[in-house]
Amino acid sequence: MEQKNPRVEAMKQFNKAAEIMHLENWIREILSYPERVVEVYIPVRMDNGEIKVFEGYRCQYNNALGPYKGGIRYSPDLDRDEVIALAQWMTFKCALVDLPFGGAKGGVKVDPTKLSLRELENLTRRYTYEIISLIGPSLDIPAPDVLTNEQIMAWIMDTYSVIKGYNEPAVVTGKPVFLGGSKGRKEATGRGVAINIREFLKIFGDSVEGKKVAIQGFGNVGSYTALFLTQMGAKVVGITDSGGGVYNENGLDIQDLIKYAYYEKNIEGKIRRTVAGYPNADSITNEELFKLDVDILVPAAMENQITEENAGYIKARYIVEGANGPTTFEADEILLSNGKIVIPDILANSGGVIVSYLEWIQDKIGYYWDEAEVNASLEKRLIRVINEVYSTSKKYLVDLRTSSYILAIERIANAYRRRGLFP
Ligand code: GLU
Repeated sequence: MEQKNPRVEAMKQFNKAAEIMHLENWIREILSYPERVVEVYIPVRMDNGEIKVFEGYRCQYNNALGPYKGGIRYSPDLDRDEVIALAQWMTFKCALVDLPFGGAKGGVKVDPTKLSLRELENLTRRYTYEIISLIGPSLDIPAPDVLTNEQIMAWIMDTYSVIKGYNEPAVVTGKPVFLGGSKGRKEATGRGVAINIREFLKIFGDSVEGKKVAIQGFGNVGSYTALFLTQMGAKVVGITDSGGGVYNENGLDIQDLIKYAYYEKNIEGKIRRTVAGYPNADSITNEELFKLDVDILVPAAMENQITEENAGYIKARYIVEGANGPTTFEADEILLSNGKIVIPDILANSGGVIVSYLEWIQDKIGYYWDEAEVNASLEKRLIRVINEVYSTSKKYLVDLRTSSYILAIERIANAYRRRGLFP
């Protein structure tokens, strides 16, 4: 099957909501395009002495509500339209959870697992240099995303600070805690996914206790989601990643699996390996994972994973999008007509950017909260938005994705109505 263009999928979601809420045409027109897409070519000295050039991007989608905000991903298949779609989703995510941020996304077309630590550092620093005039604490604040981590954020912060001539921790979020990062940031996206599941199940008169869960992806989001759901009493029975998958009907020991799947050196920049080959489980393919007889399915890997081809086979009642854009528009319609409840990416995985916001504030004021304060603030905001999304879905008689979009678009539209259009 041909790969869907994530930008087209993102626009279908936007247009569906814009239609229902009768969004003014001029605002709809503006929000249909990014404000800026910068393409850079990054020369890197490799360990063998050769120079290799990598393709990189930063898309600044919209800043009506505040500085652009969004992650940087390293991915071998990255392209321009993917970055634009991800930046559009960031725009609606930040607006939905009521942060004073716009939306952006960046990335480099590279497989970071094939680079040495030195090459990864060279690439990151030169990419930062290439986009340096675009970023800054009041302008555009990057963060981790697929296959980037705290170490990469530390290099970005250092490169920016050295070139500017003063220390500027607020230029990037998701840094190590001892360099101005926020306590709880690393776990925040997974924690947010788990809170979403707990709260929505509560709304639907249900509870997490004893629920069977399947997770696609065991990066930052998948691993912490698995951990928190297990702590809430769920049983994570299946997990797949790019290298393979594991299944244990009695529930996987997530702590043990994390130890197995992650290098100790992870924090120093080494990117993870896979869950495949983990001894205390059977192996499972991704196709099998989607068909598992579970209660909750969490796609926490890449875009376009739930498609017209496989949506009909999904047995889980709840599909909770840890990844950005994992469900195509057509697949979404199939899930809805099968009575599934989809908790959309811009809500489900917003815990990360919420704590990024808290990190940015802490860096700006130079005062750091303890982990309990950070977690309480995350939880309070999420619960408020979850209830807003649910009541909006009742008000408009729409699914949760559409109600999330309506809330997000309304906030941005309100800004435009008062700000007007320059000139
Ligand atoms: N990359 C994450 C996301 O997609 C976090 C972005 C951020 O914290 O700025 O939401």
